[in-house]
Amino acid sequence: MKTFELKVIAMDKVFYKGECELLVFPAVDGEQGVMADHEPMVSAVKAGELRYHLSGAVRSAAVGDGMIEITKNGVVILCDFAEYPEEIDILRAERAKERAEERLKIKESNKEYIHSQAALSRAMARLKVTSKAKRI
Ligand code: ATP
Repeated sequence: MKTFELKVIAMDKVFYKGECELLVFPAVDGEQGVMADHEPMVSAVKAGELRYHLSGAVRSAAVGDGMIEITKNGVVILCDFAEYPEEIDILRAERAKERAEERLKIKESNKEYIHSQAALSRAMARLKVTSKAKRI
């Protein structure tokens, strides 16, 4: 299968830089797939699960909110965080989820509400990839 260059850059590190045959990323309206020769575009990435396929293998990772740029030279994702399942502390993510849910139950300011929603999305993204990894 034809490959393209994928770069996933998180706030604190270059998470992945290499060849990719198929990328599936969390978009605003659900999962979106990218293969070589995809039309150029810039779009939002939502916190969730990212998967990249190469040589019959697939790697899954949790990513935070960000942007994706697709050009004829390849694909760049800039995101808040990117973590492989084995890097994720499940208990920590469960606690972060519970904290965010508790905060969302009380009346918060708009700013606090957005903050809690974002924290919940990050925790859910982490838990999603770890729960899938456990099943494999
Ligand atoms: P928490 O409230 O647990 O800190 P958070 O969503 O606010 O979670 P982030 O701001 O996204 O955390 O990340 C801060 C740092 O902590 C980053 O380096 C991130 O990789 C790390 N981190 C956050 N949650 C986890 C986790 N569950 N497992 C491993 N590392 C984590």
